[in-house]
Amino acid sequence: MYGKTGKLVSAVGFGGMRFDETKSHKENAELVRYANKMGINYFDTAPGYCNDTSEEIFGEAFKDMPGEYYVSTKGMPTTFDTAEKAIEAVKKSINRMGIKKINFYHIWCIRQMEHYNLAMKPGGQYDGLLQCKKEGLIDHIVLSSHQSGNEVLEILDHGKIEGVLLGVNILNFPYRWKGVEKAHSMGYGVVAMNPLSGGAIPQHEEELKFLSEGDETPTEAALRFTIASPQITVALNGFTTKEHIDMACRIADESKPYTNERISQISEKIGSAMNEACTGCGYCDMCPQDIAIPNFMQFYNEKHVFHKSEDNMVEMLRSTYDWGVLAGKKGTAEKCIECGICENECTQHLPIISRLKEISSWDKQI
Ligand code: SF4
Ligand code: SF4
Repeated sequence: MYGKTGKLVSAVGFGGMRFDETKSHKENAELVRYANKMGINYFDTAPGYCNDTSEEIFGEAFKDMPGEYYVSTKGMPTTFDTAEKAIEAVKKSINRMGIKKINFYHIWCIRQMEHYNLAMKPGGQYDGLLQCKKEGLIDHIVLSSHQSGNEVLEILDHGKIEGVLLGVNILNFPYRWKGVEKAHSMGYGVVAMNPLSGGAIPQHEEELKFLSEGDETPTEAALRFTIASPQITVALNGFTTKEHIDMACRIADESKPYTNERISQISEKIGSAMNEACTGCGYCDMCPQDIAIPNFMQFYNEKHVFHKSEDNMVEMLRSTYDWGVLAGKKGTAEKCIECGICENECTQHLPIISRLKEISSWDKQI
């Protein structure tokens, strides 16, 4: 059940941020319908996802999708900063998806309290969303946050929203778990995004073997963590294949949550490294110097999270420019003029400028 809303949602949700853009809308929509056939009934999207095609793909899928399902989308308070703009955004999403209403509408991407305060100002986004609720265009106003557990709690204490969407996974949960547990105990819906830490878990299965129990892989262990945790209502997965859907549904059917003892063991082993890792979310990707910041920061994770030596990093940088995450990217790290735009936008509050300086020093050794 999603909080106190009375809506019975599936433990696995379909996150619409990773559709294969080389495929047609019809092909991608087929994947959405397959997920629904497998029992998934929570579909999460946002304007802008997948080059702004995600809502349209869901719209295509919803045309002939039988059964009951719930639709979630989002709007940023920094973009829709008046009630009028917020109402317009809701109507646009509804039209694009060809639906009558949005079940869960997120005040999107709260990184600092000032974003929340902006949404709540009189005549702002929240007031617009309340109006939409009155008109039957929205069922529930919820919020997505990239803040620490304590700040999330402060927002929940205001009692204005009905659920939260948080970036929580097996590697970063110590940073957010307080917020998750409290939100759950207060009767809020809790949706988890980014279960595989931006792809870092499947890419580092060797180093992360300690996450697994029995013969499961670290990737399966990570999915099990978010899907089976009783404190998490829905675990969003950015599916790209039917096999991924099958895997997530199998894990949900087996429903083997982690014990508290195991959670503390993992927490000790991980330490704080993942609190300060780049998740690849892309919100910082607006550099005036054309630096591909998310790619550089994903690369830097290798040092920060997986403790690679400087020599290793120099060696890896060479090959990463050829065929890794930096292949074909313009803008070298040394071009940074320290304007600070990216750090202001970063959902993980990372010291991007100093990390770029380090990368620039490795560049000189290539
Ligand atoms: S601080 Fe550097 S990397 Fe960040 S936006 Fe400015 S120039 Fe780009
Ligand atoms: S640097 Fe920050 S904002 Fe940019 S992709 Fe990484 S986590 Fe996201």
